[in-house]
Amino acid sequence: MTGFAELIHGYHRFRDQEWAIERARWATLSEGQSPKVMVIACSDSRVDPAQVFDTSPGEIFVVRNVANLVPPFEAGGGRHGVSAALEFAVTQLEVEEIVVMGHGACGGVHAALSQCFSDAEPGSGGFIAHWIDLLDDARDRVIAEYGDGPEAIHALELETVRVSIANLRTFPFVPNRERVGKLKIHGAYFAIRDGILHVMDEQGRFTPA
Ligand SMILES: [Zn+2]
Repeated sequence: MTGFAELIHGYHRFRDQEWAIERARWATLSEGQSPKVMVIACSDSRVDPAQVFDTSPGEIFVVRNVANLVPPFEAGGGRHGVSAALEFAVTQLEVEEIVVMGHGACGGVHAALSQCFSDAEPGSGGFIAHWIDLLDDARDRVIAEYGDGPEAIHALELETVRVSIANLRTFPFVPNRERVGKLKIHGAYFAIRDGILHVMDEQGRFTPA
């Protein structure tokens, strides 16, 4: 498996090849960024948005976390990492589109469904439990419809996208911009097994891109 030493080898390949070829781009990027799209994806090592969407540096503003979740707008307490990134992307960078990308075989979704970390202390699963409890309502809906088998896992993986999009819209600056056509929100799902990206339509259904 790849350790930090291999990553440094990779860095040297990058410096000798891609960076050298794209030197002009990097010179421009050193003056600032103006990505048009924000992508919210899972931290899972298999679903890198820059790779899936074949983008270059400067093109997408990315936030990744367990199960590609956006929390609802909450003013008090805590350190709101996702909210800060969202606020920066929308109100400062003025991205024109936000993509929430779920994926297959998501460990966060599996944990939400099995509740394997419920009652765990912070440091032994408690942080995960309190993060993925954002999916509790969706989990109940999915279990009521599909039970708790493989179908339920897939259904909940898709629900993460719908939940995050609903929560995005609790931040006043999001619907305000959607209303005047300055911001568009998209849902997507990357099935790791076959490498096919599915895109969500207006009715919340996912079909291959
Ligand atoms: Zn995941």
